[in-house]
Amino acid sequence: MSVTLLEKYLPPQSLPYLKDWFGSHRIHIKITRGRSTKLGDYRKMQDGSHQITLNSTLQPHLFFFVLSHELAHLIAFDRFAGRITAHGTEWKKIFGEMLQDSISVYAEDLQPIIFRFSQSPKASFMASPELVRYFHIEDYEDESSYVDDLGLQDRFIYRKKTYIIEQKLKKNYICVELETGKKYIFKPLARVQKIS
Ligand SMILES: [Zn+2]
Repeated sequence: MSVTLLEKYLPPQSLPYLKDWFGSHRIHIKITRGRSTKLGDYRKMQDGSHQITLNSTLQPHLFFFVLSHELAHLIAFDRFAGRITAHGTEWKKIFGEMLQDSISVYAEDLQPIIFRFSQSPKASFMASPELVRYFHIEDYEDESSYVDDLGLQDRFIYRKKTYIIEQKLKKNYICVELETGKKYIFKPLARVQKIS
């Protein structure tokens, strides 16, 4: 999907930034319709292309913000070739810079909130009460953690089963399904629901 096809979801003046960030990457953008409660998602595909999923019901500034978050994953993984964690320092730095570079895209009353967020970007939107308030996104679930975002002994739900992270291998994680005690290998970017 070309970036210009996204225009109707985006705030004015955001395209030049996106064209710059998209660069020459092969990116499939999937727009979810209906009442999805997920904001967005990034995946690297086996053929080396990238897939970003975005929720079509987001208002334009939020859509742009979530797209920036997901593109920061792409740029960080691309630049550091898999040696980093999903929402680690490299991602935070890149996302923070993207937010500051494009701050003029955001509404005037939103800019200070975005700026504060950019100084130490959080993996989760819900970690910023002022953003949640601004966009009235209390209804969105923030269920999607990466296994990579969790620590040893953390519990999570994946396809209705509960696991605990037992060990980190070089890249992947060994997780134990609690009910059966069986061990499974999870990739760092598997999407799971963290149990707090
Ligand atoms: Zn993320």
